[in-house]
Amino acid sequence: SENKVLIRKKVVVSVGDLKIGGGHPPIIIAGPCAVESKEQIVETALALKELGVHILRGGVFKPRTSPYSFQGLGIEGLKLLREAGNAAGIPIITELMDEKHMDIVNEYADIIQVGSRNMYNYSLLKELGTLEKPILLKRGMSATLKEWMMAAEYIAFHGNSNIILCERGIRSFDTYTRNTLDLAAVPIMKKETGLPVIVDPSHGTGIRELVTPMSRAALACGADGILVEVHPKPEYALSDGKQSLCLEGYKELLKQIEPFISI
Ligand code: PEP
Ligand code: MN
Repeated sequence: SENKVLIRKKVVVSVGDLKIGGGHPPIIIAGPCAVESKEQIVETALALKELGVHILRGGVFKPRTSPYSFQGLGIEGLKLLREAGNAAGIPIITELMDEKHMDIVNEYADIIQVGSRNMYNYSLLKELGTLEKPILLKRGMSATLKEWMMAAEYIAFHGNSNIILCERGIRSFDTYTRNTLDLAAVPIMKKETGLPVIVDPSHGTGIRELVTPMSRAALACGADGILVEVHPKPEYALSDGKQSLCLEGYKELLKQIEPFISI
């Protein structure tokens, strides 16, 4: 193997008291695609906390396909996400797109997400290697498993092995779903890297109705957690409403994955 740092030794990532990977019970990361307002993110955080969740997500720097689409609330949104996480007493994760925001995101977030579009951003990966903060590294939408492994290796080689991998679907010939969720990646990446591997069935399918069945499938094949988009009013979401669960949908998801999790 070309891996030098990540050599199949099990890595357990700690976020406060929470342990991810290494045979610990799978965790749930949930929240809206984007932080849209104080009311929206605090309401979501409190509701999720009540139903059961481990980590709150919310994008503030959004990598949108169109420059005319909602770009996220930026640093103001980051502070709202922190406020919501504090109000609910749960850790938070958000995506970092640009090195210029690394210090402030490192200050406010408990986990830093590298999005699919930045998996190949080697200068960003090197910078994240200098932190101790857990990094959630999403698979590039056209990345081979080898390329994904080496992207993780970049972060680890530069000093940070606190990495969680996230399968979020890849592009294929079939456009029926937004992406093609590659669940074989879960056991393969766990074995090859020793890192925790979680699955994002929201971006992986793009279709709300598929989130619960694919969460069950992900957990059945050994995923260390799932990342799901949840919005109190998906029909009004500023991004990714079609794949977002409403709170009632989240409740149903929890019921369906109960055999796999402990909240
Ligand atoms: C997201 O998590 O909202 C996101 C943009 O995901 P991805 O990078 O997988 O497209
Ligand atoms: Mn999204």
